[in-house]
Amino acid sequence: MIIQYKCPNCGDDMEFDSETGTLSCHSCGRKENIEEFSEDLITATFSEDEANEYHCENCGAILITEAETTATTCSFCGAAVVIGDRLSGMLAPAKVIPFTISKDEAKKAFQTWCKNGLLTPKGFMTADRIKGITGMYVPFWLYDLNSKVKVDAQGTKVRTYTRGDYIYTETKYFDVYRDINLDYVKVPVDASEKMNDEIMDKLEPYHYDQLKPFKTPYLAGYIAEKYNYTDADLLPRAKTKIQNFIETYISSTISGYSSVSYKHKQINTKKKNASYVLLPVWMVYYDFDKTEHTFAMNGQTGKVIGKPPISYSKVALWFSGIAGTSFITLKLISLIMGGGFW
Ligand SMILES: [Zn+2]
Ligand SMILES: [Zn+2]
Repeated sequence: MIIQYKCPNCGDDMEFDSETGTLSCHSCGRKENIEEFSEDLITATFSEDEANEYHCENCGAILITEAETTATTCSFCGAAVVIGDRLSGMLAPAKVIPFTISKDEAKKAFQTWCKNGLLTPKGFMTADRIKGITGMYVPFWLYDLNSKVKVDAQGTKVRTYTRGDYIYTETKYFDVYRDINLDYVKVPVDASEKMNDEIMDKLEPYHYDQLKPFKTPYLAGYIAEKYNYTDADLLPRAKTKIQNFIETYISSTISGYSSVSYKHKQINTKKKNASYVLLPVWMVYYDFDKTEHTFAMNGQTGKVIGKPPISYSKVALWFSGIAGTSFITLKLISLIMGGGFW
């Protein structure tokens, strides 16, 4: 099912507007409140064929998507397209943080960031080198975790004193037991195969108080993907993410000793809840020294991550607007653009 939003006033395409948080028409300026969104605005086509061939309603062009794509734009006419059947049932996100940073703001933020001299060599990145900038909703699992911690340790207190000609060292031993119950809420783990985990971790934090119940219009005009990994798949990673916090907390409860040695430390972490959410990321792509680079920015806070995050070949598809699944298609494009075989 393809979802496109048509303006009730003028019939033009509508897109999500990060400034007002509404579904907005660029032609006549009409704005629709998404939280009270009426489904009447949806012009839906049900494709009988499950072979995943979708057509743009405006121009009829085939939308070439990857299996993960849930929102994209028509590469011929630019219309915002949402693929409804990949966002329903098990695949329905519970919540979304909508973009609050516009494309222009993202560009400006990158400029500022460059001027701060965070990048070398000189001239590595200036705004005019930006070749593509794409707003992307990345699938995440947010875990609520509970950890039961049992600790059995031995603490020592050492005192040294002098009496007569002798120096005495007195060591007292203490048995230390701790029984701790810890709750962690909204531990984020990215569920997209393409995104580099380390980079996604660095884009945090997101402000989760801004999470909104998911509605498809938030995706209009952006690229979105569905999860590649289930919450069960990624639970070990969520546990790893809180490991340091747990350790730090344990040591904070055992203080005042000269030394502490652990005899037993049992940490049992269970999932209380996991919800599927979409979080906004700006991907900026530009070239320097005949090499392509991609940079990522938190689409809510503007935090920039300045290391080439991911495999260019995989990410290139987001910027071309054509997510090709066929090798032949890619090769043809390469030839048309004057590129060689690879
Ligand atoms: Zn309009
Ligand atoms: Zn089109």
